[in-house]
Formats: sequence, C-alpha cells, structure tokens
Amino acid sequence: MLQRTEHLTKRYGTKDGHTLERYLADGGYEQARRAMSMSREEIVNECKAANLRGRGGAGFPMGIKWSFMAPKVAPERPHYLVINADEGEPGTFKDRTLMEKDPHSTIEGCIIGCRAIGAHVAYIYVRDELHLAKDRLWGAIREAKEKGYLGAKPFGVDYPVEVYVHAGAGAYICGEETSLLNSLEGRRGEPRLKPPFPAQAGAFGMPTTVNNLESIATVPTVMRLGGENFSKMSALHPKEGGCRLYGVSGHVKTPGIFECAVGVTLRELIYDLGGGVKGGELLAVIPGGSSTPILRADELVNAPNEKDALHAWHGKSVLDVPMGVETFRGLGTMLGTCCATVLSTQACPVRAMHNLMRFYRVESCGQCTPCREGSGWLERLLDKIVAGTGTLDDLNRLSEVANSIMGNTICAFGEGTAMPALGFLKKFRPEFEEYIRTGGRSSTNRLELHAAAAE
Ligand code: SF4
Repeated sequence: MLQRTEHLTKRYGTKDGHTLERYLADGGYEQARRAMSMSREEIVNECKAANLRGRGGAGFPMGIKWSFMAPKVAPERPHYLVINADEGEPGTFKDRTLMEKDPHSTIEGCIIGCRAIGAHVAYIYVRDELHLAKDRLWGAIREAKEKGYLGAKPFGVDYPVEVYVHAGAGAYICGEETSLLNSLEGRRGEPRLKPPFPAQAGAFGMPTTVNNLESIATVPTVMRLGGENFSKMSALHPKEGGCRLYGVSGHVKTPGIFECAVGVTLRELIYDLGGGVKGGELLAVIPGGSSTPILRADELVNAPNEKDALHAWHGKSVLDVPMGVETFRGLGTMLGTCCATVLSTQACPVRAMHNLMRFYRVESCGQCTPCREGSGWLERLLDKIVAGTGTLDDLNRLSEVANSIMGNTICAFGEGTAMPALGFLKKFRPEFEEYIRTGGRSSTNRLELHAAAAE
C-alpha cells in the first residue's frame, strides 16, 4: 500500500535543508542529546523494536548488528562506527540525496550510533566524486562542533564523539564492508576473508560496526517516534519496520527518490511515483540495484503452499507484492538498495546484460580466479553474441561460467555478477535465441516473442 511519509525527506524541498538552523527548527539533535543520557542497551533495544533492516542491500536487522559489539570496551581495543556512503550500485542514488539535502540527520545518527556501540569515532566513507555530498557533510560537522554537539563533551556529557569524512577513490568493490575498511586504512580496496567479522576485527583491527548511510540517517527518526511506533508504519510490520527511500529510474517518466512507509509495490513505484513507463510497455524491472536478479513484468507469484510466506499473493503479478527483504527473496530476487531500474519493451535484454557484465568485469578486484576470469568470460561471450557471431551453445556456456562463479569467491561480488547473469538468461531465453538467430536484427515485439515461446 502506497503511503508517502516525510521523516527523512522533510527538508528536501527547502533551499536551506542542509543547514543547522533549519535542522534545529525541526527538532534536530534532540534525540542525540537524549541518547547521551541513555544506556547502550536502551538505544540498541529501541532500534531492535523498530525492525529497521539495513538499507545498504543485505537487509540485516540494524539493532541486532549493533548488539554484536562487545558490551565492555577495553581501553586498548576502541570501538569504531563506519558509515558506508560509497553508493556505487548502478541504478542507486538515494544516499547521495540524504548527504546533499539533509546532512545533519547523518551526523545526529552517528552520535547516537557511537553511543549505542561504545564508539567515540565515526568515519563516513564517501565516493570521491560526490563533491557536494562531501562538502555538505564537512559543513554539518563544523556546525555541530561549533554548537558543542561533537567534540570532547557533546551536549556537556563526558563522552567524546568525533565524526570524519573519508573520500574513497571510486571503486565499486569498496562498497563491500571489508574492502571499505581496507581502503579506509590506506590499503588496496580488496575484500577480506571472513571471519573475523568487523564486530571482532574491523577498522584498524578493532571492533567495528559498518552501517549504510540511509540506515544511520534514519536513527534519529526511530528515536523520535519510538521503535515500536516506527515499526508499525510498515505494511510488513513486524518483520520489517518503518519508512525508507525508494528509487526508480530507467524507462519511467519521473525518475527520482521517494520516501514511503515500507511495503510499496513495484506497480506503485513505477506508475504512481515514477509516472509510468516511458516509451513502449513495461518489460522488466531490476528491483534493487544491478546485482539483484531481474523480474519480468508478466511473471506471476508461484506459492501454492499455504505455509509459503508469499501464499497471499499466489497467482498475482509480481508487481503487486510489497517490496520487502523477505518477500523479494521469496520471488527469487533481492530487495537490494530498493532502487528499481525499469526496462521498457524498447530495451534489448541482450545488450542490457552485456552492459552489466562489462561493468562487473571492470570492477572485479581480481583476488579470486572464478570472479576475475569468469567475469571476463561472460563479457567476451556477450561481445560475440552482440556482434552477431554468437551461437546457441554460447548461451549454455554463459550459464556454465556464471554457475561456476557462484559460491566460489571471497565476497558477494561473485554472486552479484553471476545472479543477474543467470536471471537474464532464464527470463529472456527466447530473446537471446532470437538475437542469435537474427544477429540482433529482429524487430519482433519482445512481449509477443516471449508469449509465443511460452505456448
Ligand atoms: Fe574480488 Fe571478485 Fe573475489 Fe570479491 S569475488 S574478492 S570482487 S575477485
């Protein structure tokens, strides 16, 4: 059910939404002040009650993540909070809007987060090319320091908190948390083997929590409303709570970022928020960033078993299922960053997959052979098909290569390459076959082509 909210985006429409004056006029920093008089456990419990699922892609419950940090902080093992604002997932641009239009909510979230996990220092890791975002964050830190909200005694309480902005160099893989930590430490941005997990040995080998930027910017809202009330806003309460940013781009008339209560459907996102499909009919949607497997617009939910979590939607269009971490897992895809990319019938799935695989080949860090070599093979096979010299055998080879990447790599990037590849091959087999038969010169309507193949 579409329910627009204005907790995170209240200041988006104002020219001075990034200033401290404006943030204070809306009750800003009151929750950070309150957090200073709360115990770590009280803050973590509030976040657990909110059922706030991480907004970076994995959807892990944030309160539980915070609770992984050791309850006592040894002086020689300081805790760190690290904010992942490396937002490099194709089709995703939500965190950037928060940093540019309302940076103080992130800084306030950092103060509360530091208090919750026993940290005194937070690093916000931002993609270097987001110049305005970095300037706005530094400006907000300066203003907060001048007011005494950061520094040796925030709000007069003897609990020092400092927040720093760290610029990354623009590698997609640095959005992976351990790769980000390496980069933060001045090392090559390559993922680490896990365990140890960051809560045991993260930044500088110390216990660390890595949170997505939207997640941390949502914390002041959780504290203001109370965890339970925040959670109840969602149509998917109690599994998933609150409100979040939804993005839509690609072949829609009004691409953008919209804040709504959790539980919006793809149909609402595309037609009510995105203004409908631009050019042609709706063909497919990549639901949450390029690494999430694609959904065809004509797919129906297949959940005949009453015990199945998606049974209530059995036989209905996938476009009418509320967008949630678990509901979309049930559809065989992922919610990811909740920023959908829309493909109309004017898009060519073969070329779209080629474009994506080129991206993954370039961005692989190269540590694991299946990912490094496999991504190159995927791209080269698609080069051949797009050039009109591919064979039907190449389709099987694409599947073999993608399957051999799955589960054989250090980090999730391998699956992030293989899953969308397998998704395209499975959902668009007739289109791939026709492309190979005609050398890409077919003008058949893609919906008709798929319907004919299904008969
Ligand atoms: Fe690097 Fe790919 Fe291995 Fe991840 S899966 S560590 S990106 S080579």
